[in-house]
Amino acid sequence: MVTLTSTSKLQAVLARIDRAARQCGRNPAGISLLAISKTWSAGDVRALAAAGQRAFGESYLQESLDKMAALRDLTLEWHFIGSVQSNKTRQIAAHFDWLHSLDRLPVAERLAEQRSSSQPPLSVCLQVNLSGEASKGGVSPSDVPPLAQAVAALPGLRLRGLMTIPAPSSDFETQRQPFRRMHELWLQLQADGLAVDTLSMGMSQDLEAAIAEGATLVRVGTAIFGERYSK
Ligand SMILES: *Cc1c(COP(=O)(O)O)cnc(C)c1O
Repeated sequence: MVTLTSTSKLQAVLARIDRAARQCGRNPAGISLLAISKTWSAGDVRALAAAGQRAFGESYLQESLDKMAALRDLTLEWHFIGSVQSNKTRQIAAHFDWLHSLDRLPVAERLAEQRSSSQPPLSVCLQVNLSGEASKGGVSPSDVPPLAQAVAALPGLRLRGLMTIPAPSSDFETQRQPFRRMHELWLQLQADGLAVDTLSMGMSQDLEAAIAEGATLVRVGTAIFGERYSK
């Protein structure tokens, strides 16, 4: 259970974002914080919501649905960041506001079909796999432009941009390199006429490097909630 400490850690993360933005001449208001609450309880999320945090990211479907049910009295924005199997699309389409980990057209087509027309479109980011590690989800950079065009043409979905999880590094310059490639890919989509506004990159260990390379949304778990225990 985290309560008081998580709210002070939240303030510390917001201060990190603010400082990183100013250091590279960006407006901090252009960077939003997604609090990654996977493995943490509904009570933990409630404590953060009381401190003003509205957007939460989850990786495990059943766990997140239980949390949403327990927090129905709050107005929160829910983002799915985990890997998406086809048998999860119906629940994701029904319950989430955002999906950051889209990497296959058939999944996008299912989501488009399953998203109700009474809901706003599901905001989606394509997950990009820069390292080519087969064990990681994500589409290769060269496949991003055609997938982006196909997803942007689907009803029920709104293509917002790109997401990546680079290999961890403790060196700032090394951290910046994949983020720079992501920014270039994202600018290419804009040049191709797509109205993408989100670059989802940067986590507890590398959010400053991501902000220096243009992140518009950082996904932070450990620095807010503490270490996760294995799941
Ligand atoms: C868990 C997770 C995060 C948060 O990572 P921390 O290092 O705890 O900040 C961010 N993005 C994704 C996709 C994750 O799965």
